[in-house]
Amino acid sequence: MVGTLVLVATPIGHLDDLSSRTVEALRTADCVCCEDTRRTGNLLRHVGIRAPRLLVVNEHTEWDRTAEVMALLAEGATVALVSDAGTPAISDPGERLVRAAIDAGATVTCVPGPAALIMALVMSGLPTARFAFDGFLPRKGAERTRRLAEVAHEARTVVLYEAPHRLARTVADLADVCGGQRRVALARELTKVHEDVWRGTLHDACAHTEQVTPRGEYVIVIEGAKPESTDDAAVHQALVQRLDAGVSVSRAAAEVAALFDVPRRDVYQRALTLRTPPHGLPSQP
Ligand code: SAM
Repeated sequence: MVGTLVLVATPIGHLDDLSSRTVEALRTADCVCCEDTRRTGNLLRHVGIRAPRLLVVNEHTEWDRTAEVMALLAEGATVALVSDAGTPAISDPGERLVRAAIDAGATVTCVPGPAALIMALVMSGLPTARFAFDGFLPRKGAERTRRLAEVAHEARTVVLYEAPHRLARTVADLADVCGGQRRVALARELTKVHEDVWRGTLHDACAHTEQVTPRGEYVIVIEGAKPESTDDAAVHQALVQRLDAGVSVSRAAAEVAALFDVPRRDVYQRALTLRTPPHGLPSQP
């Protein structure tokens, strides 16, 4: 396999973000794989590239096109892969082609450029040293619940993509699972005329997304979960010990609250969540 697959990042809003390397990679490719021929055709015309060979590779066709692209690579072709915007294979087609090209022994390279997740992360004001990207959350069901819980427990900064009409719902769900005090940044229309980054708590973000009608493209950046303090862990352990020993919820809460000098009400609430009775029977207060 002598061909080369080149992942080429394209602008996420501002055409001047096209680098000269990007243009050269698209100009010299034997074939450009793209999600939408009209959109990529416009981009290529903008930089004076005419009549390139375009092949549609989108979420519906990536599987079917893989053999065709592999055949081109086997002939020694240079195949460029672009998505509608940003870096291919990031919440966009490309992953399958990359895997197939590697397996077939082709060269895989990349002309780097814009990626909304990186731009939003670095502008969020939240820790950047360690972060997790979780793409789009599932729209509903158990899988959404599970992924929201994962976000809530993640200690690293989390980056999500979201459509404008689902932003308010997702922000509200995040506030539910993470608590209203968790910091968040809502990065909108990056590199475009109406670029904006709103920063605050999840509690305030709920009000914000209800007041304004979210328009355009959004990235959500959420502060990681704080590690439980040693005190917290110790309170937890002391409660578990007592409850396991058959002490009632209210007595365990009173003892542990006194022991650690923390509000009894908080400890009582925690004790109630720990004391999940079997078979739905009510717990003994
Ligand atoms: N591959 C792209 C990248 O590298 O960022 C992302 C493609 S994904 C299908 C599209 C999502 O990325 C949008 O729904 C939005 O969440 C985010 N996005 C893309 N462009 C953006 C922009 N200019 N401003 C904010 N978010 C953007």
